[in-house]
Amino acid sequence: MKSRLINKAWLVWGQRLMAIVALLTVSCSAPVERPSVLLIVVDTLRADHLTGNRNGVPFMPKLSAMAEDSWHFAETTSQASWTKPSMVSLFTSLYTGTHGVEFGTRKQFLDDSSLEIDMLPKSLESMARFFKDHGYDTAGIQTNHQLVEDFGFGEGFDAYHMLGDVPASVVSDEAIKVAAKLTPPYFLYVHLLDPHASYEPPETYRALFEDGLTALSEEEEEILANYGEYYDDHILHYLGRREVRQIATLSEAAREVVRARYGGESRFSDDEVARLIAEIRGKDEETIIAFTSDHGEEFWEHGAVGHSKSLYQELIHVPLFISVPGAAPRHDSQPAQLIDLLPTFAELCGLKARRYWQGVSLVGERVDLPVFSATGGSSREHDFRLRTVRLGRYKLIHDGNKKSVSVYDLVADPEETHDLAKSEEALTRMLQEALQKHKLDNEKHPKFQATKELTSIDEDTLERLKDLGYLGED
Ligand SMILES: [Zn+2]
Repeated sequence: MKSRLINKAWLVWGQRLMAIVALLTVSCSAPVERPSVLLIVVDTLRADHLTGNRNGVPFMPKLSAMAEDSWHFAETTSQASWTKPSMVSLFTSLYTGTHGVEFGTRKQFLDDSSLEIDMLPKSLESMARFFKDHGYDTAGIQTNHQLVEDFGFGEGFDAYHMLGDVPASVVSDEAIKVAAKLTPPYFLYVHLLDPHASYEPPETYRALFEDGLTALSEEEEEILANYGEYYDDHILHYLGRREVRQIATLSEAAREVVRARYGGESRFSDDEVARLIAEIRGKDEETIIAFTSDHGEEFWEHGAVGHSKSLYQELIHVPLFISVPGAAPRHDSQPAQLIDLLPTFAELCGLKARRYWQGVSLVGERVDLPVFSATGGSSREHDFRLRTVRLGRYKLIHDGNKKSVSVYDLVADPEETHDLAKSEEALTRMLQEALQKHKLDNEKHPKFQATKELTSIDEDTLERLKDLGYLGED
């Protein structure tokens, strides 16, 4: 009898204990505070400008120091060598061969005034929509006319502010103002355009990199003052569409001036992005901050200038670091890609990844995967189709028009000057097979876009795209 009473007493205490545990469990599983996310994209920024210098003057001292204290993914590849397809990949975690967005201009020869252009397909969920559907406030600050709302890039944003081609200082001011009105958790995307041609940094930033420059002739000064014309002429000649150049080729001294001015734009972006980050962190130290670029820029390394026309490392090797509050710094030199950003954000924010995403989360350990990039289009000025695969140290570039391939060892030959395609047949075959498999995988993917979504563009947008150097001459 006594023992039964004791047992009963224990049972009551046991039930009370269970109730306390249940209460504690409920309070622990109450809605988790999700962190806000700030994504900063500096257009046209080469990876080597985050950490590099010119004559000992660093291009981005503030952000490179920040990268050191963050998760720095030093070997990140962009999925395309120009803005639109690259940003669609970043926003959807899909390869270009799956989402199908490319240059997409179609000259309508019957009606000269009409032009159609690829847009971010409405059937795809973009990063902003993903966050919005998980209860985030979403806002975008935009400067690139390839990424306008009319082309689908405002989808999922509560507010999408198109500022046009304004300097980094204006973008940061606006981003700080917009962020102050957002309710956490929020997703804020800020896109700066300063390192994009034309290269005209504020005078103080330009002066920083002028050391060692040779004085130019009046004629070359004149060419640099009208760099857009030089650019178009050079590219048309590079693409074989203009047999005789109309503007003289630039001397090495003049090319150095161009590179120095690009350096000035990087340094200006460094100061302004650092100011923006300090402001955001000052308000909420738990914010996750990612910094990257949509593609790089080439300066005659392989004959061309600007971007989009090739897939060499100067174009597809981009900076990427993610500042995760409370996490230890990490220098990661495994291959990463822009399509990995969305799965990474999802994991950091405790959100379930979509099964169909083609990127992987960069949060934990991962295996070395091949990385892919592509560029192409079918407008009059941009008729080329290039695709690349990188597997470890080796990279193959496939030229769909010339039906040719080139292979490089990025460790022994980082400047990609020594083509191994003929001498390393087995390696070349293996890389070609990987690229072919990638193409088939994309075509079998549940989100494969078999038909393009196109939108017509007005004269104003057409002019702005021409200013960016995308459409060349009529
Ligand atoms: Zn771009």
